Amino acid sequence: MLQSHYNTSSGPLVDKDPWALVCPSGANSLREKEIGAGPLGILTLETKAAQSPYRLMSASKKITIIIPAYNEGIQLQDTVREVSAHIPAAYDYRLLFIDDGSSDGSWPILEELAASDPHIQALRFSRNFGKEPALVAGLLEAEGDAVIVMDADLQFPPAYIPAMLEAWEEGYDLVEGKKTVRQNESKLARWAARRFYKLFQMMTDLDLANACDFKLLDRKVIEVWRDMPERANFFRAQAAWVGFRRKEFSFEVADRASGQSKWSPLKLTRLAINAFTSFSAKPLYLIGLIGAVLMVLFVILGITALVQWAKGTAASGFTTVILLQLLIGGSILLSLSLIGLYIERIFVESKGRPRYIISERTGRGFEGESN
Ligand code: UDP
Ligand code: MG
Repeated sequence: MLQSHYNTSSGPLVDKDPWALVCPSGANSLREKEIGAGPLGILTLETKAAQSPYRLMSASKKITIIIPAYNEGIQLQDTVREVSAHIPAAYDYRLLFIDDGSSDGSWPILEELAASDPHIQALRFSRNFGKEPALVAGLLEAEGDAVIVMDADLQFPPAYIPAMLEAWEEGYDLVEGKKTVRQNESKLARWAARRFYKLFQMMTDLDLANACDFKLLDRKVIEVWRDMPERANFFRAQAAWVGFRRKEFSFEVADRASGQSKWSPLKLTRLAINAFTSFSAKPLYLIGLIGAVLMVLFVILGITALVQWAKGTAASGFTTVILLQLLIGGSILLSLSLIGLYIERIFVESKGRPRYIISERTGRGFEGESN
């Protein structure tokens, strides 16, 4: 009975054997030897299996947690401890850090962490490319059945990980966190974020209000996501665009565990412009609208001027001319700069440069291969 249960070459019982799905040839013979080896039979097998390197190849589901980190050195150890503590024992997992060109000695810390814990992998960028490219790298490099995206500063509470995995097991392909209150943000930042998302929804029909990057993605979503080769990524909008079965949950953003936000107003403006120009061409229609409004205005002004000229009471010209010049000049410059932004997008995309450069790697993947 035991023999047939573990015979991986035939029989319906094979499906019940979690090893049968992933065990490489050669591993079976090792296992059979273990079964026959001692009087403890299957107990011996289980004990040995738990200690063997093949344990990682059991059928437990594999989860990769993607964590972009830029100058978060003092935080990394706590992040590893906190996140690892919240991953249910039934899952095999990797924490995949993307060191986004940190200059605070994060990399040696990550190397040390990876050397002492086989669940830790890390990539190092050759310079600071930004959080979006770091997420791209994480998604492209992540192995396993699902990924969860987190921040290194523990603002996305790892305590939600088990519930996210539960929702995934229920069949949801995308499980996403929505911020309830945007804590510790200035009124101006909160107002700017609200305006941005409102405008973004008008332009793209994607509702990103309170959205953030705290998400779980099933493998099939990641595969679809791989086919979006654009250089200007906006992860949360792309995740909204792909569709799939999704579940939302609300969470309160925790205080930053250490250090300060790594986003400068300049970086945020850049991200906002990229988001608009890569997700919608509607701003270009604005140029047509400005043109149409000005045309109407000019027709009215023209007729009035002609009538006054015919009556011999022409308007005193200087102020009118100056105002008209400013209006026309301003709208032309505005239109040109809008077109310019889209030309920049075409320029960047057509160069086809890589979105990031990985300079170093540490840690091992699920199959024991160096990442
Ligand atoms: N981050 C990054 N590259 C950057 C900026 C930020 O990898 O150029 C990471 C950062 O280390 C953190 C996450 O992105 O893990 C979110 O950044 P931050 O906490 O500074 O943003 P906030 O929470 O203020 O929006
Ligand atoms: Mg943060």
